[in-house]
Amino acid sequence: MGTVTITFHRPLHPYSWGMFQARPRLDHDERLIPIPGMAPDLRSLDNQCPFLPRCFKATTVCRTNPKPAFTEHEPDHRVMCYNTITVPAD
Ligand code: SF4
Repeated sequence: MGTVTITFHRPLHPYSWGMFQARPRLDHDERLIPIPGMAPDLRSLDNQCPFLPRCFKATTVCRTNPKPAFTEHEPDHRVMCYNTITVPAD
């Protein structure tokens, strides 16, 4: 969760990062990188991270712990993830 500017420039969640890799861009002629798998069935979510089956950053902590709580990385930028993406500052 964050402002549009923060989220576009510094996506922290692997799903947000994946969405940005999968979006078409007019200024680049590169292949899109889709997120593998299917969205989870929202009727049967357990207490794990809902992105776990599709996440390239998933580790043992994601599989053995309940879904992470929100943490605030900077003002107006919160994320629920044990292994956030590291994006260089602007
Ligand atoms: S908590 Fe783990 S599985 Fe969920 S998005 Fe973060 S790294 Fe991926």
